Amino acid sequence: MDAAVANRSGRILVTVPADREEHALEALSRVFGIVSISPAVKTALELGTIERAALEAVISDANPPFTFKVEAKRAEKRFPLTSPEINQAVGGFILDELESRGVRVDVHRPEVTVYIDVRSDGAYVFSRVIPGPGGLPLGASGKGMLLLSGGIDSPVAGWYMMKRGIALEAIHFHSFPYTSEKSRRKAIDLAESLSRWGLPVPLHVCQFAHIQEEIGRSCPDDMITIGMRRMMLRIAGEVARGRECQVLITGESVGQVASQTLESMNTIDRVIGMTILRPLCGFDKMEIIDRARRIGTFEISTRPFEDCCAMFVPRNPRTRPRPEQAEEAESGMDVSGLVTEAVQNIETIAPQGG
Ligand code: ATP
Ligand code: MG
Repeated sequence: MDAAVANRSGRILVTVPADREEHALEALSRVFGIVSISPAVKTALELGTIERAALEAVISDANPPFTFKVEAKRAEKRFPLTSPEINQAVGGFILDELESRGVRVDVHRPEVTVYIDVRSDGAYVFSRVIPGPGGLPLGASGKGMLLLSGGIDSPVAGWYMMKRGIALEAIHFHSFPYTSEKSRRKAIDLAESLSRWGLPVPLHVCQFAHIQEEIGRSCPDDMITIGMRRMMLRIAGEVARGRECQVLITGESVGQVASQTLESMNTIDRVIGMTILRPLCGFDKMEIIDRARRIGTFEISTRPFEDCCAMFVPRNPRTRPRPEQAEEAESGMDVSGLVTEAVQNIETIAPQGG
C-alpha cells in the first residue's frame, strides 16, 4: 500500500503501512508548513480496543515509573462516552495495568500524555508529538534565485527562505580553470541537498573566470571584491528575471567580511532593481554553522575545496566603498557585454532527485 494523504479538520492525515513509519516520519520532518507530527494508531470505535491501544502507546514511549494523563477529544458525538468519561476509563485501565510499577496520574504536569482523537471513522491514539520544521508550504510565497557558493552560509540562507514558502533556483559562479571541477561538484551537491526539502532546486552554473580577469585588469586592488559582487548580482538578476524569480537571495551577514558592511551592501545593491533577501543578516557564524549541521549541508560545504573568490582576494579590500567609486572602477569594462556573454553560456543542471 502506498501512502494516502487526507485533509481533516485541524489535521492532515497521512496513512502509511506500519513498516514504512520511520521512513514517513523522516520525510514529513522535511515538509515546511508542518508544525508537529504525531504517529498514531487507528482503532475501531470501541472502548476496549482504544484502552489497549492507549496502553501500548504509553509503554512504547516511556519506561515505568512515570506520570501520565489521558486527553481525549470527541469530534464524533455518536460515540457513547464523553471526553471526560473516556479520559477516566482509559486512565483507569492504564493505572490497573501499570500502578504496581510506579505509574501515576498527574493531570497538571504529566511526563507522558496519551491523546485519543475520536472521529467518525475510528479513534486515533498517540502519545508522541514530534516538532515539524514549521514555516509555510514551499512555493506558497513565490520563487527566488539563490546565489549559491560552495560556502557554509548561502545554502543555509536558501533553506531559511524555503522555510518561508519561497521555492528556489540557484546560481553558482565557477572560476574554471582557477578552481577545479570539485568546487562545481560542491555546488551541485548543495543544490541536491536543498532539493530534499520539498521541491527540486535547478542550478545555473555560470563561468566567471573571464569576468574576474577583466575586473582584475580594470579595478583597483581594493575594489576587486565589490566589483565581483556587483557583476554576480547583475548576472543573477538577469537569470532570475528569465526564470520568473521575484527576488535574489544571498548568504551575507552584516559585518562578517569586508564586502558585508552596510556601505558595501548599498554599493552592491545599487546595480540591480530587484529585491535582495539576506536572511542571515542578523546571525552569528556559530548560529549559521549550527543550522547548517542540522539541515545536512555542513558536511558538503566544508569539503576542502577553494571557492572562486578565494582566487582573487585583494590584500586590503575597501570596507566602505561608495557607489561612485565602484562605477569609476568599472568604467574601463564593457559591463553589459560581459553580462550578456556570461548569461548566454550558463549551463543549467536539474537535480537528480531521490
Ligand atoms: P558563503 O559561506 O555563502 O560562501 P561567505 O561568508 O563566504 O558566504 P562571501 O564569500 O562574501 O561570504 O559571499 C557572500 C555571498 O555571495 C554568499 O553567501 C553567496 O550568496 C554569494 N556568493 C559568493 N560567492 C559565490 C559564488 N561563487 N557563486 C554564487 N554565489 C556566491
Ligand atoms: Mg564564500
